[in-house]
Amino acid sequence: MAFVVGLTGGISSGKTTVADLFHQNFSIDIIDADVVARQVVEKGSPGLAAITTHFGQEILNDDGTLNRSRLREIIFADQREKSWLNQLLHPMIRQKMQTDLAQTSSPYTLLVIPLLVENQLQSMTDRILVVDVDEETQIQRTMTRDGISRQHAQNILSAQATRAERLAVADDVINNNAVNQKLLSQITELHQKYLAMSGRNL
Ligand code: ATP
Repeated sequence: MAFVVGLTGGISSGKTTVADLFHQNFSIDIIDADVVARQVVEKGSPGLAAITTHFGQEILNDDGTLNRSRLREIIFADQREKSWLNQLLHPMIRQKMQTDLAQTSSPYTLLVIPLLVENQLQSMTDRILVVDVDEETQIQRTMTRDGISRQHAQNILSAQATRAERLAVADDVINNNAVNQKLLSQITELHQKYLAMSGRNL
């Protein structure tokens, strides 16, 4: 079984940036929970069939794909529908991540899970790597990237786990506060550590 490093962090902390660096520099396999979450509801999937049975055909776009904004509206307005959806999709997402993990070939794999702390998915990983930034940096980067107001960015942050909650479960931390953050040197050091831990460099 692959050695699994769970990579997490709040919105705009730099998870994608960090994962890309591991992949580009060290050919480490990446499994991204957000990508898997889309795959389990793609056209023709059992996940989408269950959603259509529950919410009706109105939940589909004309081309038969999931109407995400419609679904978001429904679950935003109704906590029970949100729970129903989570109970359907979370096991499917976990299962697909396990299947994907079994097919990886790099010495260790990065499992990128934005909501690792919120959804208590620590048990899927051997080690947890947190990308840490201060809140003001997160807000600024989210506003710039997504073109949203400070209040909107603040609301998204408030709905997530806190920085302290994430750091409490971290085995390793990458600091990504500064604009010219020396990410590659931090990543290179962690890569050596994970190689040693995964036992493949012997
Ligand atoms: P999300 O969870 O919202 O998808 P993320 O954690 O994957 O975000 P990224 O997409 O990697 O974060 O980074 C968020 C934004 O911040 C991007 O626009 C990225 O270019 C920028 N960014 C990341 N790191 C830095 C840095 N050190 N200096 C300046 N900008 C950065």
